[in-house]
Amino acid sequence: MLLKLDPSKIRCEEIRDIETIAADSVYKCYQCGKCSAACPAAPEMDMLPNQVIRYLQLGMYEKILESNTPWVCASCLQCMTVCPKGVDLAKIMEAVRTVHLRRGENKLNINKLDEEYKARAPQIAMIAGLRKFQSLS
Ligand code: SF4
Ligand code: SF4
Repeated sequence: MLLKLDPSKIRCEEIRDIETIAADSVYKCYQCGKCSAACPAAPEMDMLPNQVIRYLQLGMYEKILESNTPWVCASCLQCMTVCPKGVDLAKIMEAVRTVHLRRGENKLNINKLDEEYKARAPQIAMIAGLRKFQSLS
């Protein structure tokens, strides 16, 4: 795949915000891929965790938004456990979600959920889902 880099997007505002919220640098990563090999949620992701970091390093924040990976991430910390550079990918994934939600672009609208589903779903799952997928502001 041919990637066209835009130097003006490197360390763009969104990526700086992600690093601030995660209190970590995406540039620590040297793309060994151990995080992706260890990630239990990887089979459900359309972009591997190390690829998320790579796109962030390259200033391609918009690519991340096309991906389901930050939303599928279960914050299990397995990736951080195996990362030789100590990259906190779970926090970076959460920061990606936070920046996205702060733009007012919700991933879930509770009002659009099926009434029968809402009646059946455990309350704790609903609250966790709202916290993860919907802006509360
Ligand atoms: S394990 Fe760490 S250094 Fe290796 S690709 Fe993943 S984030 Fe990067
Ligand atoms: S924290 Fe997220 S990216 Fe890391 S191993 Fe768990 S599910 Fe995968």
